[in-house]
Amino acid sequence: MTELTTEYEDLRKTVRDFAEQVVAPVAAEHDRDHTFPYDVIRQMGDMGLFGLPFPEEYGGMGGDYFALALALEELGRIDQSVAVTLEAGVGLGAMPIYKFGTEEQKQALLPDLAAGRALAGFGLTEPGCGSDASGTATTAKEDGDSWVINGAKQFITNSGTDITRFVTVTAVTGTRDGRASRRGDGAGGGKEISTIIVPNGTPGFTVEPAYNKVGWNASDTHPLSFSDARVPRENLLGERGRGYANFLSILDEGRVAIAALATGAAQGCVDECVKYAKERRSFGKPIAEYQSVSFAIARMEARAFAARTAYYEAAHKMVAGKPFKKEASIAKMISSEAAMDNARMATQIHGGYGFMNEYPVARHYRDSKILEVGEGTTEVQLMLIARSLGLPA
Ligand SMILES: Cc1cc2nc3c(=O)[nH]c(=O)nc-3n(C[C@H](O)[C@H](O)[C@H](O)COP(=O)(O)OP(=O)(O)OC[C@H]3O[C@@H](n4cnc5c(N)ncnc54)[C@H](O)[C@@H]3O)c2cc1C
Repeated sequence: MTELTTEYEDLRKTVRDFAEQVVAPVAAEHDRDHTFPYDVIRQMGDMGLFGLPFPEEYGGMGGDYFALALALEELGRIDQSVAVTLEAGVGLGAMPIYKFGTEEQKQALLPDLAAGRALAGFGLTEPGCGSDASGTATTAKEDGDSWVINGAKQFITNSGTDITRFVTVTAVTGTRDGRASRRGDGAGGGKEISTIIVPNGTPGFTVEPAYNKVGWNASDTHPLSFSDARVPRENLLGERGRGYANFLSILDEGRVAIAALATGAAQGCVDECVKYAKERRSFGKPIAEYQSVSFAIARMEARAFAARTAYYEAAHKMVAGKPFKKEASIAKMISSEAAMDNARMATQIHGGYGFMNEYPVARHYRDSKILEVGEGTTEVQLMLIARSLGLPA
């Protein structure tokens, strides 16, 4: 395992302490009540976590994506809802602005996002398409100095909190011509797909009521609808027609972030089981003394270790500017499976208590399933890995 520099290690420890002392005590309550943890998020903003990978000139901390990943692992170990609020807030909300925005857009939008004073969502998934983004049906038509947006988005994280400022949506802005094709826009079904910033409160843009989810109950997720929602022309984010390529690069990075979060979840299950197995007695001795229990926990630890090694490798390559697409897919796949497998085993080790919602392992059991689906399903990761081997996928 790569040894962390003092700077990274200090950050990891600070976030671990925060997660244990501030996040853990209120996690079960927010999960039970399906409430967004505004106070926790405000404190994370004050700590600079939302600004970790951004330069100081935009209100960031001048760190990098690996620093963000470390923070996500530590938060994911304790509360996946809080972790995914940070992951989506930075990776999907602020990062597209930083990577593709004009200087004016960056100056106007990034400081509040980097301080955690505001959140933004990224709307790609629609009722009719998720994995296959070429199915995008939302349209944005030019009308004078405006874009007029019609359509619907689905399952959009951080889109409806009291501090959500805007959502960036992918929309069909025309037909892809030969020139766009040669620029490497990828698939898109002949559609020209662009990304457009839609401020919350825009007439015709409705944030529909929140979903009743299986897990991630303290994270904010809504369907969105657009009916002649009109935004200024300058709300186009990045080059027209580059929307497909741009969001693919955002998703590659997001996979490393989700892998870190999932590693935290896998490790959280191990840590809970080590404690519990030493305390819980059965047939006159702690259950840790049964080899079937200690071996199960040892296997869980091995999964968390492999997941961490994989995301470190992907994150290091990304930060070094090297190709990291395959590594990101591998890390995302094995870490999300590690989280789900560990959560299943952790609830087994906790017996009936593991089925009680207020237990952290029960929360991990409900929360971890979506890790195998969001930011590209396991099957999508397999498709990308197979493609990297030159196999038809
Ligand atoms: C809590 C939550 C938060 C989310 N946040 C966001 C967000 O902020 N922004 C956003 O845009 N989206 C978000 N999503 C959406 C998420 O990214 C999608 O659900 C995911 O990408 C899968 O898309 P889908 O649900 O349309 O499933 P589908 O694409 O319909 O897939 C259904 C099944 O078919 C499989 N499948 C599809 N195509 C293939 C193929 N070619 N080969 C083999 N198998 C295939 C899939 O792997 C899956 O098992 C969120 C979802 C949830 C539940």
